[in-house]
Amino acid sequence: MNYVEQINKIKSLVEYYTCQSNQPISELLNNPSSEFKQSAYRLFYELIKFKSPSFYQEPNPINEVFSLIKRSISCTEHSKKSVLECVERWWLEWYFTLEMDTKLTSNITDIPACFVSSSTQHPMRKHELSHYAKLFTVLPMPICNVCARTGDLLKVNQRFVDIFGYTLDEVPNLAVWWEKAFPDPEYRKSAKALWKNSLQFAKENNNDIPANDYRVRCSNGSELVMEVSGIDNGDEFIAVFYDATERLKAQDILRDMAFLDSLTKIANRRRFDEQFAYEFERLKSSADKLSMIFIDVDHFKQFNDRYGHVTGDICLRDVAQKIAATVSRSEDFVARYGGEEFVVLLPQTDTKGALFIAEQIQKAIEELAIPHQDSFTGLLSISMGVNTADTNDDKLVFLKATDSALYYAKRQGRNCIALSSENL
Ligand code: GH3
Ligand code: MG
Ligand code: MG
Repeated sequence: MNYVEQINKIKSLVEYYTCQSNQPISELLNNPSSEFKQSAYRLFYELIKFKSPSFYQEPNPINEVFSLIKRSISCTEHSKKSVLECVERWWLEWYFTLEMDTKLTSNITDIPACFVSSSTQHPMRKHELSHYAKLFTVLPMPICNVCARTGDLLKVNQRFVDIFGYTLDEVPNLAVWWEKAFPDPEYRKSAKALWKNSLQFAKENNNDIPANDYRVRCSNGSELVMEVSGIDNGDEFIAVFYDATERLKAQDILRDMAFLDSLTKIANRRRFDEQFAYEFERLKSSADKLSMIFIDVDHFKQFNDRYGHVTGDICLRDVAQKIAATVSRSEDFVARYGGEEFVVLLPQTDTKGALFIAEQIQKAIEELAIPHQDSFTGLLSISMGVNTADTNDDKLVFLKATDSALYYAKRQGRNCIALSSENL
């Protein structure tokens, strides 16, 4: 492209301020509201603004224009060079804003910075705001700026396009955004309600839009959990998205750590207490039955004494995993109750069904065939107490009765299954 006009005018500007201005050069460059900077902006406005959109193209023409000017300046003209470099920095910044604006809005008609509201027409004010526009563009999280009245998406930053895969053309307003990013109608309804409440909260409390997690569908079909917060200034709001995937992963790990027994890798006692309370609560409002099996390893103290604690630990892990593998329905639940004791919860299962499962578990442990010389059979065995609750039963009474059934099985000589007397 021929930049003769631009080159000559910039050169004249630089020459004028280097040679004729009474001000020292450093003062000229460091004063952000100097007449020099204003003149540089006016020239930029005159030479760049009225160009057709094809002007905003790669490679950046500003670099080219200024490198041509630099070549024409002798290396001894230091002050002219520093003035020119300063103008170049400003122009690059203004051009960046202009280019971003052109990319983000399809019909640029007037001033270079369309993020500037009509009340901020002064060129220097626009320049000041260009810093914010630049920040908007380069911030490392998706951001979108929405008109509160029309629901139009006024602007999205590059990270928004990169992460979600939607350009401003593809999601021109909130209605389209909700449809595309929240395709499931049920979830969309709840996500919209959550966002509406968040906006309402921000308005009523003159505060930020509070952060909440939303599952956002990207244009490539993948789904991301984003923590969305923002600011609302009445006419417009800005929504800021943080990827919550890592936080949720960390939460899952912490949750697993809190609820998993580290030795046996099945649920721990705390998790059992939670599940037991939940199942009992559910039982209250249904005609179902809830069965439970208490399991205790026979003569395990002697096992440890004979084979050592390390072998004892491995044995407990194998027994736990075997029980978990035997109880296969997704609603069933297995936990380590403590020491060498385990517990199984079987929702919607009557006594007959629970006895069947207990027999399956007994068989499975027999199949493990763990040698135990102090046991009657020569192999490790377990004893079990089985109990079934219905709607009216009390949680603690039920637990105690199941425990009694287990100790009845122990008294019967171990390696056997006993039914709670209430089920007989
Ligand atoms: P019973 O047949 O009456 O159940 O006898 P028992 O020896 O199994 O019962 P007791 O309650 O007397 O002993 C339980 C043993 O389980 C004692 C303890 O050393 C062992 N134990 C509990 N937790 C662990 C563990 O995490 N690892 C190992 N290796 N042993 C454990
Ligand atoms: Mg025990
Ligand atoms: Mg025992």
